[in-house]
Amino acid sequence: MKHPMVYLLIQVYFNYMSSPTQIVKNKSQVPIFAIITLAIIFVVGLFVVGYDQGHIFSVVLGESAYEDLYIHELTHDMRHAAGFPCH
Ligand SMILES: [Zn+2]
Repeated sequence: MKHPMVYLLIQVYFNYMSSPTQIVKNKSQVPIFAIITLAIIFVVGLFVVGYDQGHIFSVVLGESAYEDLYIHELTHDMRHAAGFPCH
């Protein structure tokens, strides 16, 4: 055990074993609040573009909103382009 290579290997081994380790915990880059907010915006947008037949404005305008169909007429071309049937 007088060979210098043995001492070098032992020294390298102990330096490796005693080196400090760093533990990195990755947090999610996208907060759950943003995901929920975008999901709500998506659902509301889907309803407005695809399914509204005066329901939203009927809260304010009453029964005449079902005949005027303001949002339906506003999103009519987008509705057809997205493949939603309306007439
Ligand atoms: Zn149409």
